[in-house]
Amino acid sequence: MIYLNGKFMPIEEAYVPVLDRGFIFGDGVYEVIPVYSRKPFRLKEHLARLQHSLNGIRLNNPHTNEQWHTLIGQIIAGNAADDQYLYLHITRGVAKRDHAFPAGVSPTVFMMSNPLLVPPQELLLTGVPAITASDNRWGRCDIKAISLLPNVLLRQLAIDAGAMETILVRDGFLTEGAASNIFIVKNNVLLTPPKSHLMLPGITYDVVLELAQAHAIPHEVREIAEGELRTADEVLLTSSTREVMPIVSLDGKAIGDGKPGAMFKQLNQLYQQYKASTMRA
Ligand code: PMP
Repeated sequence: MIYLNGKFMPIEEAYVPVLDRGFIFGDGVYEVIPVYSRKPFRLKEHLARLQHSLNGIRLNNPHTNEQWHTLIGQIIAGNAADDQYLYLHITRGVAKRDHAFPAGVSPTVFMMSNPLLVPPQELLLTGVPAITASDNRWGRCDIKAISLLPNVLLRQLAIDAGAMETILVRDGFLTEGAASNIFIVKNNVLLTPPKSHLMLPGITYDVVLELAQAHAIPHEVREIAEGELRTADEVLLTSSTREVMPIVSLDGKAIGDGKPGAMFKQLNQLYQQYKASTMRA
């Protein structure tokens, strides 16, 4: 069952008019919320980020947080898997094609949930390759916009190269991955760039920094030069669906000894423990 504009229905029956501004302009925002044992993970934070994205595109939130909680509960209940990947999408609605905001139009609200497949254990043991590319996206990457063409093209570069992710560099500094946030480790210190308009404020990024803080892992949030990325001892990727993953090569060159490092192992263990604790809560 999916949710579209106030109704639950099978996905085969869900249609959106071609004049939807999501279709015409990519004029909308979205969220991806992992669900573990039927509990949405960090829901408050995801809804806060949704509000930030809506503010960024000047679209009113169609629902209160209480309403979102109810709808999300219903969509989770309507799907068979205990662990799910919940996708929530809001566009500015259906209107005659014109760039200007339409008056008196209701937003389109769509939600679906699918079984969540976390990365296979094997990839966590071997680590994954990544490539780098110049970050050619717009200047509001903090908005989780559905217009993802640059991210799609950048991510495909990784796929074409047999890599897991494209790590983006803007003006000589690390921003993030095409669909993830990036951490590096140098001399046992965990480093990641500060939140700005040039990256998505990742929910997993926040969890990892909180875990580092709580467990006295040396860490620093600061700009990371491309050279530091390339000479890092470890590189880690974070995202809601891929959790914490070790990157072991960049553009075909090994990072450190080319194996997942001690920081990855510690953070992944802490992340898995944290996840498990939220399921019991
Ligand atoms: N940056 C980008 C561009 C992303 O698409 C994602 C994945 N949604 C992230 C970072 C990671 O964010 P989160 O941890 O909230 O999934």
